[in-house]
Amino acid sequence: MHLYLHIPFCRQACHYCDFHFSTNTSNKRAIVEAIAQEILLRKNYLPHAPIETIYFGGGTPSLLDAAELNLLLNTIHKHFQVEPDAEITLEANPDDLNADKLHQLNNAGINRLSIGIQSFHEPHLKFLNRVHSATEAEQSVKTAQEIGITNISIDLIYAIPAPDHSILVSDMQQAFALDIAHISAYCLTIEPQTAFGSWLKKKKIKPIDEEFAAQQFEILVKSLAAHGYEQYEISNFARNGFYSMHNSSYWKQRPYLGVGPSAHSYNGTSREYNVSNNARYLEAIQKQIIPATYELLSIADQTNEYLLTGLRTKWGVNKAKLQTLSDGAFVKTHEKELQKLKEKNWIREDIESLFLTESGKLFADRIASDLFIEES
Ligand code: SF4
Repeated sequence: MHLYLHIPFCRQACHYCDFHFSTNTSNKRAIVEAIAQEILLRKNYLPHAPIETIYFGGGTPSLLDAAELNLLLNTIHKHFQVEPDAEITLEANPDDLNADKLHQLNNAGINRLSIGIQSFHEPHLKFLNRVHSATEAEQSVKTAQEIGITNISIDLIYAIPAPDHSILVSDMQQAFALDIAHISAYCLTIEPQTAFGSWLKKKKIKPIDEEFAAQQFEILVKSLAAHGYEQYEISNFARNGFYSMHNSSYWKQRPYLGVGPSAHSYNGTSREYNVSNNARYLEAIQKQIIPATYELLSIADQTNEYLLTGLRTKWGVNKAKLQTLSDGAFVKTHEKELQKLKEKNWIREDIESLFLTESGKLFADRIASDLFIEES
């Protein structure tokens, strides 16, 4: 099984971010204790299978001090069997990653870091309202490597407004020079509940230029491939098989338990969504109540989620699994639609599975939704 822990605190709000977090860290210890308590309350959510991956996401999990991180890890080890080679990832911001902190994380058992670099270009970092500098971004990776953490992923953002593609190219060159195992590259999107969203509404900034974004994506994909990175999911690139085992489990629809404010859980037939509010989360857990909303997934939900996530990966969607999930509805209704997508060269298939082609990857969500089945 797979375990996600949401650490809902950040030093400051990035202008594009709509994840759940608070910049008020006064109740950080209490929330961490509540998450440990939730682990206990939830220990029977999934059948007793050993934990294969643990993922500290957020928010900014690198804000956890040693005692907080150890409390969570000790609680997990006490109540679950953890595979000896489990992947244990922690999302970190470069400004937190000095040598002492990295030793602390390494000693606690963190064996994979996902570092939120986003860009190595100072004005872009300022535009996004990131806390860290370009120098800190580079140094955090080098220090982690010096102390022996080799399984490192960095996040980069593309389609940040710029006169041309030279900043992106230079960002990529800096990433390649750091010799990193894994790169996640996300298109800048403007979400309504963010600073960018409100500025867009007031016309203080322009919408993301879709053509510019598509050109940047193409540059990314080509230069990552030329440097030995395999695009195993549309936004995720790995060298030498250093896939994110945790994220791959989501894309392959494996069950997982998510704890902490706003975390989701999935058991194969239903989802649960924890409340996205730190105070309400704390209050409920202190009363031994899990503040989650329950959603039973219909046949259409399960099939469509599989299409949406599976098509984005190099493994594609398995046709037999699609048939089983959709109770036979998929092939009956989608032969014509599939044919059209194949004629456009957006989808290809082999005997077992359907995959997006290179040009199809530009329209992944649209293609998946063209193939969605209807609620019966
Ligand atoms: S992008 Fe990361 S660091 Fe920035 S506000 Fe969102 S969760 Fe926090």
